[in-house]
Amino acid sequence: MNILIIGASKSGEAAAKLAKKLGNNVYVSEFKPQNEFDEKLIIEFQKLGINFEFGGHTFDNITNYDLIIVSPGVPRTAEILKIAEQNNIKIISEIEFAYQNCKNPIIAITGTNGKTTTTTLIAHILNNSGKKAVVAGNIGIAFSDIVIDIDPQTIVVLEVSSYQLDRIDKFHPNVAIIMNITPDHLKYHGTMEDYVETKWKINSNQIEKDLLILNYDDSYLLNKNLLTQNVKYFSLTEPEMGAFVRQGMIVLKEQHKEEEIMPISQIGIKGQHNVYNSLAAILATRSFEITNENYRDALSSFAGVNHRLEFTRELNGIRFYNDSKATNVNSTWFALNSFDTPIIWIAGGRGDNNDYSLLDDSVKKNVKTIVTIGEEADNIGKHFAEMKTIYNYETIEQAIFEAYNLANEGEIVLFSPACKSFDMFTNFEHRGDVFKIIVNKLV
Ligand code: ADP
Repeated sequence: MNILIIGASKSGEAAAKLAKKLGNNVYVSEFKPQNEFDEKLIIEFQKLGINFEFGGHTFDNITNYDLIIVSPGVPRTAEILKIAEQNNIKIISEIEFAYQNCKNPIIAITGTNGKTTTTTLIAHILNNSGKKAVVAGNIGIAFSDIVIDIDPQTIVVLEVSSYQLDRIDKFHPNVAIIMNITPDHLKYHGTMEDYVETKWKINSNQIEKDLLILNYDDSYLLNKNLLTQNVKYFSLTEPEMGAFVRQGMIVLKEQHKEEEIMPISQIGIKGQHNVYNSLAAILATRSFEITNENYRDALSSFAGVNHRLEFTRELNGIRFYNDSKATNVNSTWFALNSFDTPIIWIAGGRGDNNDYSLLDDSVKKNVKTIVTIGEEADNIGKHFAEMKTIYNYETIEQAIFEAYNLANEGEIVLFSPACKSFDMFTNFEHRGDVFKIIVNKLV
């Protein structure tokens, strides 16, 4: 087959290598200039006999291709995709391509928030209980990369974003989870309806024996005509069946059986959102012969993932938390509700039609002072001006120094931006790393 791969970043590179290994003619077309990529990639492509172009797409020979594999970062509106569609060339996403070459059991996780944490936690539970599991997908390890040499027994725990679900065809995980749906990525999706529909695609090919796991407390996930019969819910209230919390205890209720797993106070990671993540992880792994003792061990020993409400340092009784991955308002809501002492909240970055009113009650109740940075500083400032004192700074250094000065012993400095990072940083990891470096230098 002649395969055209659009995009030369992680997923594109992995798809190209897999396609080549399977004996196809492979051509990679990348919009960005070559000097934005590592020299090693070019050498590797040349060595493997993968052809490529950088700095734009050539359209005139598009009809030579039998299949196009598109990387998640490529906008839906890209000219090359339109031209391919006009020429009736099949377009699939990188996870679809990897899926078509993978026979392993798959647990797939999507949702607005909690994907990476739950993906990592599920793999931790499985590996900690003597099974073999690997993580892949949106978490940063391309699915195409791991399918090449995988042992057939290994369980693939796959984080999938809405971008990756956009162009699936046959992809159907044995277990699918939708963690939650709240407004995000609306600049890409255009409308909330479109965003919600894309998330539901995770279930679109599931069959009778597959399992769908949903958040019972999320209105976008209820009242839907489900294609699958086998649905389980997780909740902080008490659904008829599923995993839920009753008087501080995690309860698992299946058919006629009810079991207490462990108190939520013993979960290693903080906050109500992590209770949701733990409940979803229990439901997802239950059919892999995990015992209640395994759950207690794994959930109490799990240390969380960097940049997600990550404890950074305590200095003079003031605790600093890095929640740089809070790139939307909903994740910040959970962060603001995770502490029982006053918070100096550092927020801001690039907005995505953010609705800050969702944070009003949490800010009134839990925040002492707000420190803003980045493009959204004005919007945040205006929104909360009548509730709290707000300080705005040009740099993250100044913001951290000021937050530290404003905090008293026993209080929290929380960096939970509620915004994307691209106005000042390469990505949220870079933003969180800068925060941690500065905090660790404070004297
Ligand atoms: P994702 O991969 O979906 O972006 P992460 O696990 O990386 O999710 O967490 C992103 C942000 O959302 C972090 O700030 C984290 O503390 C917060 N978070 C984690 N789980 C949840 C959840 N279930 N609901 C809301 N926010 C969450």
